[in-house]
Amino acid sequence: MREKSNIKEIIKIKDKMSELEREYDKLEKKLEDAQKAEEALWVKTGFCTICGNNGVENDGYTEWHHIISQHKCKKEGLLHLVSARSNVVEVCKRCHDLTTASMLKSNLEGRTTKVSEENADKEPTENQLKYIKKLGGDIPDGLTRKGASQLIDELKKAK
Ligand SMILES: [Zn+2]
Repeated sequence: MREKSNIKEIIKIKDKMSELEREYDKLEKKLEDAQKAEEALWVKTGFCTICGNNGVENDGYTEWHHIISQHKCKKEGLLHLVSARSNVVEVCKRCHDLTTASMLKSNLEGRTTKVSEENADKEPTENQLKYIKKLGGDIPDGLTRKGASQLIDELKKAK
């Protein structure tokens, strides 16, 4: 009598796995091509999507602003949206700063304020000043953007 064997089943599974592997490799190559094509769409016009200016100083300098922030994309495991052309808009520096400032509003939910080193000594943003007043604080003379950020944190703690 023939001994029992699962060899036919094993071969069948292995064949199917090889087939899926080939399919996977094909998709991987397709994905790579699609990503390259996406990258090629990142072409600046030199004009701000929001205000329409040709850069702040009319020099055509613009930046990419992520609609769904890069941080959020990474946090949610949506890395492909970091490089998606549909997730960015071309904006001038001034408008970009305003969108960043608008993130101050999220501090209402308890996040800390971050001011980049290059902006630390600039004057506070309008949103910062508004927020300080809202929190019942006084605005000292010569307040910097970084100082305002610290003041906001203090005022929030004091609440
Ligand atoms: Zn603008």
